[in-house]
Amino acid sequence: MPVSFEYTDDGLEEVILTGKGVSPGLAFSKIYVNARGFSAPDIYAIKPSQVESELETFSRAVAVTKKQLEGIRETVSDISGDEESQIFDAHIILLEDHVLHEKVEAMLKERLVNISYCFYAVIQSYMEALRRAQDSYLAERATDLEDIAMRLLDNLLIMGEKAPTVDHEHVLVSFDLTPSDTVSMDQQKMRGFATEQGSYTSHTAILARSLGIPAVVGIENAVMDVVGLANCILDGTRGLLIMNPSRETVDKYKVLWAAEEELQIRLRSEANLKSETVDGRHIILSANVEFSHEIELLKSNGADGIGLYRTEFYLLDDDDVPCEEEQAALYAKVVKEVSPGMTIFRTLDSGGDKMSGEVLLQPEPNPFLGRRGIRFSLAKPEIFKVQLRALLRATAYGKVGIMFPMISLISEIETAKALLQECHAELVAEGVQVSDDYQVGIMVEIPSAALLAGAMAKVVDFFSIGTNDLVQYTTAVDRVNELVSDLYRPADPGVLRLMKMTVEAGEQNGIWTGVCGEMASDIELLPLLIGLGVEELSVGVNKVPLVKSAIRKLNYQECREMVQEALLQSKAQDIRALSHALAKKAYPIILNHVTGNE
Ligand code: PEP
Ligand code: MG
Repeated sequence: MPVSFEYTDDGLEEVILTGKGVSPGLAFSKIYVNARGFSAPDIYAIKPSQVESELETFSRAVAVTKKQLEGIRETVSDISGDEESQIFDAHIILLEDHVLHEKVEAMLKERLVNISYCFYAVIQSYMEALRRAQDSYLAERATDLEDIAMRLLDNLLIMGEKAPTVDHEHVLVSFDLTPSDTVSMDQQKMRGFATEQGSYTSHTAILARSLGIPAVVGIENAVMDVVGLANCILDGTRGLLIMNPSRETVDKYKVLWAAEEELQIRLRSEANLKSETVDGRHIILSANVEFSHEIELLKSNGADGIGLYRTEFYLLDDDDVPCEEEQAALYAKVVKEVSPGMTIFRTLDSGGDKMSGEVLLQPEPNPFLGRRGIRFSLAKPEIFKVQLRALLRATAYGKVGIMFPMISLISEIETAKALLQECHAELVAEGVQVSDDYQVGIMVEIPSAALLAGAMAKVVDFFSIGTNDLVQYTTAVDRVNELVSDLYRPADPGVLRLMKMTVEAGEQNGIWTGVCGEMASDIELLPLLIGLGVEELSVGVNKVPLVKSAIRKLNYQECREMVQEALLQSKAQDIRALSHALAKKAYPIILNHVTGNE
């Protein structure tokens, strides 16, 4: 990543904004502010050939908004009666007003600019007219319009429009980002991002780490406090956004940058060494992959295979889920590239903070506890079976694992496996080449799965502990809610016990257990995971050299003894401290580097 640190004397005062670093690294660039809400959306040109798809996006956003308004109307009607809920009927009528739609369409065709801007411009002119009428009833209708407009604009931005293109390198500052915003950003130009919302295990932060760009979240009033185009340093390691950096700050960061480069070069040069502890305990070290281009880095970074392929980022990238042929081609290509290593594909994990148009059509009051992961797949067997058939076709090309997300009941595994067998039989009958030699596993990320691990271990080939969700569901702390982020503690004693139960159930039933949540790349907690006896770790592809270097300095027996002590603790901070002490003894330099202690 080319970063040039040059001080510019623009006479402006340095401003330091503090948040939480969720993706390490440094960026030196210009600020680009993306303010959401009912302010003018970015305006950009579209091609005549895009008119149809913009109109389609608009219709879908109207449909979603209508559904949301109907939902609200029903709730209001249950609570306050029909009269109160009638206001939402009026909103729906406004939303579907054909004159409004015609005006938006006319502007789109005439000006050839993005649909959200056209909608914004038309609705603004309506609101102006209402406000000018100097009639309190009509003025109130302007507020109604604003309400509907904000909702529709949000839906347009979430589901249809690609993020605005910015033609200069920048650090993006925004209130929040969805995973799809992050994916559709111009990755060549975006050097990093800083947001007011977000957390370490939100999928946006995970994506930033897999893209290898720094990110800082939880900066209060970031959007208000920064100025577009100002110079800045984004420090994803220490959680800082420094606007108009002074000469001293720039000089300091030049030194930090050089140290970072040096460490990365050293870690990469050791990447192909064995992943084993000083006393010979081998740990399979795999990579988490969201984008197929990350596979190029897999071997040079020394990963044994892919421990978690998050297929949802591929499947939900476009409006339509890719067909079986297309999916089979991608999966086969991945398997061949990763061979002789194994590729573990996780089946679609939609929902939570990873929304698709389809999920959005049925808004859920609490999406993380809703029809997420395997629940969605089992409710939509026609989509699920396409993916299962495509995955089975990839088994002909190398080692494949098929992993089900969000398992909370044994019956979910049974049903999913039955569908898998059905697909296998169909493919064999059709004469399509498939292998019998593949593994079926589950994510252990819900407490009920960990508590039932003994029974579940009898029907699967492996467990992969998803700590991101296991922490969320065990401690009832929303993984993406900034307000409770200090309560989100991977070293929680309850979580530790559930992980121990899972590993032991695996050992007793002769299956392996790995960890693929973000905890696996937290080198402060690595001694804890090694000591628990996990056999595999799967981490962001950029983190593989770092984690391997740390594993190679740990002593397995010492880690095991430390875990015995950790299990006696009742506070997350005491467990973390025990693990930290071993990490510090084994690899003080890289630990300091990661935690930003100079
Ligand atoms: C997890 O929950 O730990 C996990 C790896 O899955 P995701 O982050 O995609 O929910
Ligand atoms: Mg998960």
